[in-house]
Amino acid sequence: MKLHEYQSKRIFAQYGVPIPDGDVATTAAEARAVAGRLGGTVVVKSQVLVGGRGKAGGIKLAHSPDEAGQVAERILALEIKGLPVRKVLVDQAADIRQEIYLGIVIDRAVSKPVMMASSEGGVEIEEVARVNPEAIKKVHVDPFIGLRGYQTRWLAKGIGLDPALQRSFDQIARGLYQAFIESDASLAEINPLVVTGAGNLLAVDGKMVLDDNGLYRHPDLAKKRDIDEETPTEREAREAGLSYIQLDGEIGCMVNGAGLAMATMDITKHFGGSPANFLDIGGGAQADRVATALRLILADPNVKAVLFNIFGGITRCDEVAKGILTALDEVKPQVPLVARLVGTNEKEGRQILAASDYHLITATTLAEAAQKAVAAAHGELEA
Ligand code: GDP
Ligand code: MN
Repeated sequence: MKLHEYQSKRIFAQYGVPIPDGDVATTAAEARAVAGRLGGTVVVKSQVLVGGRGKAGGIKLAHSPDEAGQVAERILALEIKGLPVRKVLVDQAADIRQEIYLGIVIDRAVSKPVMMASSEGGVEIEEVARVNPEAIKKVHVDPFIGLRGYQTRWLAKGIGLDPALQRSFDQIARGLYQAFIESDASLAEINPLVVTGAGNLLAVDGKMVLDDNGLYRHPDLAKKRDIDEETPTEREAREAGLSYIQLDGEIGCMVNGAGLAMATMDITKHFGGSPANFLDIGGGAQADRVATALRLILADPNVKAVLFNIFGGITRCDEVAKGILTALDEVKPQVPLVARLVGTNEKEGRQILAASDYHLITATTLAEAAQKAVAAAHGELEA
């Protein structure tokens, strides 16, 4: 789950990271009021969950409260990379002398958090990694020991930071690390961390991504979820306990197991189709879950065929078959359905499907199932 800039910065501030004074606004009038309270030049920043807002016209300076209102009005009317701007952050403008990058992610290859710093702040770190990788300094942090002073000093030195700012940098780096750990985040980033004209460090931008699997420990953070982050379908899936990611293809896939779902998508693609979704219905075979999953798949108007790929292990194919029939009764799909059930009780499962009023196209191997689903989606195979 992604957090907005203002949410991330407020969390960082709780850990002692200096951030500009400011507040969020949802209307031009509110933005004007915030600018009036702050006084002087402000920066009006769109709060959308994508990067590169500056280039998209979503960040503007304003020199008076009236100008802040006008700028906010324009930004609030924008759509940035497909996302509507519903809020702006009005911050006291920073006098920027230098832009630094400071961030933490999990390095899965090493099984540790890695803190990264770069003197090339302000631009996306992926871009720095591509064109100038030696400008990024990294330290791995042992989670049992935590981030140590020698590590932050090494980073500060590595990016050529003014030694006078080392103490402040150390505090900010430790604060960011604590925020990352205590929020169960998978990413915490300040880009840019600026050196101001007055010679202080200030976190001008903030970004956090929280690990969904840790959210149950943070009900207060879970409440911050932005409805625009996920489609209504993805939301319903999450609430039903299904792993669902909508894609833009034409073949809806219903699969039990994440690895099998990936393999199903690969083979569908191999035979010239394109998957409409990733969907793992998980173990067990409760009919209501299968029904919810099918309803979600069919709610996507791009879906031209549905492929059920069920591997019965602990899950029994006859139970899944019953689930599919219950779902069909409830959802009444208008597109061809291809079912492949193999494993425990597969014979019984196929018999249940064959006895139903719905004509399901059946297949034994995954290759056969995928080819039939592709043909069905292309109208070359009638149900
Ligand atoms: P992003 O483009 O979505 O990453 O948004 P940022 O908050 O990082 O802002 C992008 C850029 O706008 C920064 O790198 C700065 O160069 C500039 N910027 C942001 N805030 C201020 C500010 O308060 N004063 C000035 N002068 N520039 C700012
Ligand atoms: Mn940024």
